[in-house]
Amino acid sequence: MKFSHSNTQELYPMEDPIWLAPDGSLLDCTLAEHFNPDLVNKNEPSIWRYAEVLPNIAIENRLSLGGGFTPLLPFAINDRPILFKHEYLFSTGSYKDRGAALLMSMAKQWGIKNVVQDSSGNAGCAIAAYAAAASIACSLFIQEQTSPSKIAQMKAYGATLKAINGSREDIANAAMEATKTSYYASHCWNPLFFQGTKTLAYEICEQLNWKAPDSVVLPAGNGTLLLGCYIGFSELVQFGIIKHLPKLIGVQSANCAPLATAFFSENNVEIFTQLPTIAEGIAIAKPVRGEQLLAAVKNTNGTFITVSEQEIENAWKNCVQKGLYIEPTSAATVAGVASYAALFPNEQIVSVFTGTGLKSTDSIAKLNKL
Ligand SMILES: *Cc1c(COP(=O)(O)O)cnc(C)c1O
Repeated sequence: MKFSHSNTQELYPMEDPIWLAPDGSLLDCTLAEHFNPDLVNKNEPSIWRYAEVLPNIAIENRLSLGGGFTPLLPFAINDRPILFKHEYLFSTGSYKDRGAALLMSMAKQWGIKNVVQDSSGNAGCAIAAYAAAASIACSLFIQEQTSPSKIAQMKAYGATLKAINGSREDIANAAMEATKTSYYASHCWNPLFFQGTKTLAYEICEQLNWKAPDSVVLPAGNGTLLLGCYIGFSELVQFGIIKHLPKLIGVQSANCAPLATAFFSENNVEIFTQLPTIAEGIAIAKPVRGEQLLAAVKNTNGTFITVSEQEIENAWKNCVQKGLYIEPTSAATVAGVASYAALFPNEQIVSVFTGTGLKSTDSIAKLNKL
């Protein structure tokens, strides 16, 4: 596998630690070249189960903290059983472990000594955890209003935190400045992160006996899971294992929906209004890979769905009242499933519970009072 320029498709070897094309454009990875489902290591529950389709990382550099091959279980949404992947079961409490495990394994292989990242929470927690596992120093630029339990988690792993009083863009700019002396372990810019999240597509297919569902409903903030799934399903089509791409459905909070707005109006991604949302983890005003996300959803014949604060709250209550303690951001996707499923009564739909509620005690305490 090689790195490839997102526009010109020029190739770069994976021997060098880069995360951006030389001209400042986004960097991608080439598709995996071969895959034999019979060679899947069934005893391996981590992302390394699919090592054959992942970048070439020596066994001694492959990091895992015990998550992966998450259960795919039916969960009733308006009395209809929908299959959900339980992604909050990863070690750091969200699916971000998939991307962080892959990215930090490569950093370890490259002999990188320090990484920098900027995140509203879960991505920072995951990069900090796998940096700790690889004995790599980690600096995290975070928003001052980041949840105290996520800050505590990042600190516990030994990360150096730099709280910035400003917008997400100010924070991204500060991190960007730091990349002059440190490798950027970004979940948005770095293409290796998506090589980790693509394993979700492989798991879904394997759990459905190497068939694709009709549609997969996913969060669309920075779209790290959505683009990862697009890559994974595209590879599985290319290998002839599934016949066609499942529809990818991106869910956004109505209060911050740049992609849905662009998708339906054909405007550029930046024209929209933003209000606060309890789904803070998907409140991304300017997704770095916005154009790629729009193209991915379009190519799969999918769509975007926006959900109101009330719908997110209802979805969250439905989950916790059935014993599933997910974070409010995670409930936005569940709310998206409810409205999508009502439109398509005959489709086989798969979705995800993205993150645990255990890190969102403050916002959950507020929700309890409503
Ligand atoms: C990161 C995250 C999301 C959103 O993922 P994007 O990659 O921004 O689309 C949703 N839920 C949880 C719990 C997350 O940590």
